Amino acid sequence: MPSGNSGFQCLSQAALSRSRFLRLATGALLPFVGLRLSAAAAQNSGAPGTKDASAPGRIGAIHVSQFGPVKIHSYLSPAEGLHVNTQMVEGPNAVVIFDGQLLLPYADEVASYVQTLGKPIDRIILSHAHTDHWGGLQVLIERFPDARVFALDGIPDQVRARGPARLDGLRRTYGDKVATKVTVPTETITEGPQRIDAVTYDFKRFVDGESDLQLAALLPDQKVLMAFDLVFSPNQHAFTGANHFDHWMIVLESLKALQGYDTIIIGHGTPVGRSAIDSTMTYVKRAKEIHAASADAKSYSEKLKAAFPGLQQAGFVDLSASYLYAAPH
Ligand SMILES: [Zn+2]
Repeated sequence: MPSGNSGFQCLSQAALSRSRFLRLATGALLPFVGLRLSAAAAQNSGAPGTKDASAPGRIGAIHVSQFGPVKIHSYLSPAEGLHVNTQMVEGPNAVVIFDGQLLLPYADEVASYVQTLGKPIDRIILSHAHTDHWGGLQVLIERFPDARVFALDGIPDQVRARGPARLDGLRRTYGDKVATKVTVPTETITEGPQRIDAVTYDFKRFVDGESDLQLAALLPDQKVLMAFDLVFSPNQHAFTGANHFDHWMIVLESLKALQGYDTIIIGHGTPVGRSAIDSTMTYVKRAKEIHAASADAKSYSEKLKAAFPGLQQAGFVDLSASYLYAAPH
């Protein structure tokens, strides 16, 4: 848990069994290697989340972290949506949204939630080009047509190149929960500090970490590091499929060197403290060793799960293995 001046409320929590998550996760992102969810399972895949009294019917969970006049609202999708976050930074006059969910229904829940805040959307920012972070952007654009979508230079090209095949694959599992078109960011986020709605952001560009290219944002006044998928929860497996073990460690060292950032906002799961950088380093280091000693995906998966038997989201291990050992194409 984070320390410092952040106050947390968990307004609702969705829960799925680990085995069910595994099936869903592999079904979601592995259509190219033949691991698909059955149609019947897909139809029954709505998470039996505890209903939040203030929002009957909402499946995702909302956590709110308050830092004086600034609030960060974290929408966490259920397992079907890979427990991915959309972050909503609420300043005095507007909301900045980071990431757009994997599936349309959860992006729709984000849109409905952000409307309750009663402030305009200043912009939407995409952290990186993995589909679980932009797949639902279509809904946000439809519901907030004036909101422009920003990303680091290079990310739009990745989304444009890989997006259509990713959506086609997802559609075989999730049907009409998947976007009908790829939403490509149109505006460029530049590195360095800038103020948006009286909140100071210091945007950073990292290559060859959890993905080929990834944004992080420091909020120095709130002592918040928005690390997205560069840091994973100590309770969960990480996605290692990009095969950047060594350089990801260097990235994590540089994040660790940033002193004073007590709260880390991550891509999957509720906010964490600084120790999550260490636990992610431990995980990546061990995963690298196991990758070096494993000849195939099955062996990698089994050894990595055995090395971290207590972690959740084991589906990420199988997903990573499928990427690491995929036949070149
Ligand atoms: Zn992710």
